[in-house]
Amino acid sequence: MNEAKYIWMNGNLVAWNDAKIHVLAHTLHYGNGVIEGTKVYKTPKGYAIFRLNDHTKRLLESAKMTLLNVPYTLEELNQAQIDVIRENGFTGENVYLRPIVYLGYGVMGIYHKDAPVEVAVAAWEWGAYLGEEGMKKGIRLKISSFSRPNNKSNMGKAKAVGNYLNSQMAKFEAVEAGYDEALLLDDEGYVAEASGAAFFMIKDGELITPPNDNSLVSITQKTVIEMAEKMGIKVTRRKITREEIYIADEAFLTGTAAELTPIREVDARVLGAGGRGPLTEKLQNGYFDIVYGRNPDFEHYLTYID
Ligand code: PMP
Repeated sequence: MNEAKYIWMNGNLVAWNDAKIHVLAHTLHYGNGVIEGTKVYKTPKGYAIFRLNDHTKRLLESAKMTLLNVPYTLEELNQAQIDVIRENGFTGENVYLRPIVYLGYGVMGIYHKDAPVEVAVAAWEWGAYLGEEGMKKGIRLKISSFSRPNNKSNMGKAKAVGNYLNSQMAKFEAVEAGYDEALLLDDEGYVAEASGAAFFMIKDGELITPPNDNSLVSITQKTVIEMAEKMGIKVTRRKITREEIYIADEAFLTGTAAELTPIREVDARVLGAGGRGPLTEKLQNGYFDIVYGRNPDFEHYLTYID
């Protein structure tokens, strides 16, 4: 990975290599921690964090769901992220911000009430999550043999570290089978989400994406819906089954890291002409215009670092 200079840990900026935790930190053993993933782009007016406040709000909401009392306010956490970007002196096009709330050292056993809640914010330069080529030509998607855990046994709306075991197994299976990414269905066979991104398909000019019944409430998905509606594209949120995807004209994934990644093939079915579809390309360009500060209608989503 691309190392940076400093990581914010519990209120202080510490040198990258000193940002360490004890091997008996509670989260490492029992999986209760929450994270965010927020992107920072080099715009003509300097670095800008995309939808900072929305990501920090989701971090605090995730923490509330999983019973972690975060010892910092929303404003303090926003400021910590701004400081990390400013002090690291990045130069690249893209930076990824990773705040994490975790349980530190001092208590063992599953009951976590007395374990100390700690917070860190790291940032590093990170390019296209699913590869530059995937952004242009589209990726190959496999519908996973893993389903997304149902809402009675998991809190999928928390961006909790424990939830990523499911994502990780699905991703590994897909890559081992020669695909780029996994799409998980819910336990009724409807599309939930990819291992780390939301799903969209296009059929007869209509943009269709599932509700967040069993998925993270994706911030990029919301942005893309808002943008598409402004472009005059019909957007429908409804449940999607596997066979509908196979006969879609186009499809793509959205996520902070995945941005807007076209899908060219799903389980050996080629979608459309087998590349980045025309509407997907239009939306992808529109998304990059927004995050790089080229669309004044969406500038309120950018927090500039001065
Ligand atoms: N689902 C999962 C499981 C994810 O990890 C992500 C990435 N944060 C997403 C969806 C997309 O969410 P967002 O657009 O807010 O990054």
